[in-house]
Amino acid sequence: MPGEAGASQRLTDFVDTALATYGQDRDVPAIEGTSRLSPHLHFGEISPKACWRAAVSSVHRSGIAEAQAEKFLAELGWREFNTQIASRHENLATVNFSRTFDRFPWLDNTAGFQAWTRGETGYPIVDAGMRQLWQTGWMHNRVRMVVASFLTKHLMIDWRKGEQWFWDTLVDADPASNPGNWQWVAGSGADAAPYFRIFSPMAQGTKFDPAGRYVSRWIPELRHLPAKWIHTPWLAPPDILSDAGVRLGLNYPHPIIDHDMARKRALAAYAGLKAE
Ligand SMILES: Cc1cc2nc3c(=O)[nH]c(=O)nc-3n(C[C@H](O)[C@H](O)[C@H](O)COP(=O)(O)OP(=O)(O)OC[C@H]3O[C@@H](n4cnc5c(N)ncnc54)[C@H](O)[C@@H]3O)c2cc1C
Repeated sequence: MPGEAGASQRLTDFVDTALATYGQDRDVPAIEGTSRLSPHLHFGEISPKACWRAAVSSVHRSGIAEAQAEKFLAELGWREFNTQIASRHENLATVNFSRTFDRFPWLDNTAGFQAWTRGETGYPIVDAGMRQLWQTGWMHNRVRMVVASFLTKHLMIDWRKGEQWFWDTLVDADPASNPGNWQWVAGSGADAAPYFRIFSPMAQGTKFDPAGRYVSRWIPELRHLPAKWIHTPWLAPPDILSDAGVRLGLNYPHPIIDHDMARKRALAAYAGLKAE
């Protein structure tokens, strides 16, 4: 519920329920393992200090393990970190924090960008995230990292295009956290993820959505596929696809790019950047 009362209620609900297991559940997109406070924080309906205090006091009051609360506090810390960076780099959404990336050979790939925005890349965890974003204005953090990595590394599309799309579609779109995280994933940001960290959508899906519940929810075309194949429908035997009503290329796309080829291409581009 929007507004201060809704924000306060959400914080109370989160602290009373999901905080106790936040450390492990925060990476599972199929469950409500995170606070969903980002829109409230963004619109100033609640302060980070109030969130911090509520988490700390729940450790004392309800005996929630300190490590769980600390993980949540660390996330609030990332928000502050990005805010601090943005306050000193007013062009964070348009200029590489690391200017080495000014030479990165981004590709002009209109069809790839369109498939990404529509959730039609053929990689289920990517498509589920992009459809969740389009339908709700929010996307789980784990999946934000996966889709951002896919755009910048598999498709080698400039992070600024992804940042802009998120800016237009996220309900929590934030002038500091959005570009800060995009640059972090792309490798051009402050304290960025190492350039060679290229998420495999298959491995990420299998690890964080093992039963395929998240994918089934956002891609109903795949919901009858057994969990074993839900993150790699293109590898499923024809009879399994047929039983599940999946017709690749008709009601769900083939992968728009080969994972191994894309990975090698991105690594070569990043290596070239380092060598120059
Ligand atoms: C490519 C990309 C773009 C993003 N764009 C935004 C954005 O525009 N606005 C935004 O608020 N967050 C952004 N994030 C960070 C993060 O995904 C969201 O803050 C989080 O998913 C919000 O859900 P929550 O409130 O349930 O988070 P929780 O896990 O409950 O975390 C609590 C709070 O900590 C803050 N937080 C958590 N993770 C981060 C992070 N990585 N960076 C900064 N703050 C964080 C948020 O304010 C969040 O509400 C982005 C992440 C990525 C990878």
